[in-house]
Amino acid sequence: MAQERTTCCVVGGGPAGMILGLLLARGGVEVTVLEKHADFLRDFRGDTVHTSTLTLLDELGLWPRFEQLPYRALTKARIRLDSGDVDFADMTRLRQPHPMVAMVPQWHLLDMLATAAAEEPTFTLRMSTEVTGLVRDGDRVAGVRLADRAEDGSLGPESELAADLVVACDGRDSRLSADSGLPLYRYHVPLDVEWFRVPRREGDPEGGLGRVGRGRFLVFLDRGDYYQCALIIGKGTDARLRSGDVQGLRDLVAGMNPWMADRLDAIGSWDEVKLLEVTLDRLKRWSVPGLLCLGDAAHAMSPVGGVGINLAIQDAVAAGRVLAGPLRAGDDAATDRAAASVQRRRTVPTVLTQTLQDLAHRRVVAPLLSAEATDQVDTRVPWPIRMIERFPVLQWLPARLVGVGALPEHAPAWARRAPMPVVDASGASSLASSGRKAPSSGPVSPRA
Ligand SMILES: Cc1cc2nc3c(=O)[nH]c(=O)nc-3n(C[C@H](O)[C@H](O)[C@H](O)COP(=O)(O)OP(=O)(O)OC[C@H]3O[C@@H](n4cnc5c(N)ncnc54)[C@H](O)[C@@H]3O)c2cc1C
Repeated sequence: MAQERTTCCVVGGGPAGMILGLLLARGGVEVTVLEKHADFLRDFRGDTVHTSTLTLLDELGLWPRFEQLPYRALTKARIRLDSGDVDFADMTRLRQPHPMVAMVPQWHLLDMLATAAAEEPTFTLRMSTEVTGLVRDGDRVAGVRLADRAEDGSLGPESELAADLVVACDGRDSRLSADSGLPLYRYHVPLDVEWFRVPRREGDPEGGLGRVGRGRFLVFLDRGDYYQCALIIGKGTDARLRSGDVQGLRDLVAGMNPWMADRLDAIGSWDEVKLLEVTLDRLKRWSVPGLLCLGDAAHAMSPVGGVGINLAIQDAVAAGRVLAGPLRAGDDAATDRAAASVQRRRTVPTVLTQTLQDLAHRRVVAPLLSAEATDQVDTRVPWPIRMIERFPVLQWLPARLVGVGALPEHAPAWARRAPMPVVDASGASSLASSGRKAPSSGPVSPRA
């Protein structure tokens, strides 16, 4: 079997993997990122780029490039109840350079990170490359098995890539963390998500909105000419929903948002509705010699609060900061110690965030869904929302938790850059001036 070698093999080109790849490459480490898909163009990744990630992009010199992306600035999160609208989180209360959550289809962010990383000589990104398992040398993980993935998903012959360190950033169904045998703590989760698109028209609400009512919770994210919709359903109820005609889903959405009714025919069939199964779990140990798990591979996050991307990115920054030195020096023992230290640093923000998500599942989502199960029309407003409605100053707290997180991470000095030139499609580059406007599709503030 053919065997190649790299210093650090990062498995998965999601937010955690791409940020780690970029940082290590800037730290002079030979790093290879393996991504099983041929591109980043998938629509179920989450669209949020948080306040603290925007600060990180500043530090990395990437703000001028990000500014060119078709993002929309979300400064307030609003929940629409049967009884009226409630502003839930107010980002403008944060003292941050970019007090907003930027909504941008994640493929744009990942493309931008891949382009920046490709400017470093020690970086390699291999798309359409699926990792099929770990390679061990005694007690140490010594690399991965991998295979080229064809468009139809079939895999070519296996080969091996040896590495001083493998970092699993392969998401919530991580094959590598399963392979490692590391023990997992799993929360009970009462929800799954139906994910579909609905056309958006001129004058429709902008930004990201939540609609609570009739025992349901619908989130719709403004992506310019369409909404990416997420309908929260009870775990395991997808089959029941799908046993009927897709008109049942259209009626449900129209019942919650009557103004959407005239374009729901665009959901042609159930094939256009994807079930996203939600999990909430955490590895009890994130590393073994030669292997470190990060992001959802270490702690799968619920979509509640839309914070998983931020946590994954912050894990990657914390890891890049401590790993670059020992990896460059080729010191396995120091690399393993540094890998173990990442869990110690990131445990508190992870556990805190997951505890809050679990609380939201049990106290807000589960009661809502049980109202749906008994076909009641539940007009009660969940108590955290009532408190925030009564004391608007409390809007700072969800804004802080969502926008910044419990322990924001900053780029190490060696990874920082002055604002970098914008690269256009022709390969030419220019530096965006500070007052430059983003493209016409963004940024815009959500409707007040
Ligand atoms: C329905 C839903 C909606 C969500 N919405 C949001 C949101 O709006 N905002 C938010 O912050 N969070 C959201 N989250 C959580 C968020 O998606 C995750 O926390 C975040 O994506 C974790 O990033 P990651 O880099 O760790 O993993 P991922 O983003 O999952 O990336 C993993 C990557 O690894 C690749 N990969 C997997 N296996 C292999 C393999 N064997 N070989 C090679 N490559 C592989 C995958 O193709 C993927 O590119 C949502 C979650 C769910 C379930």
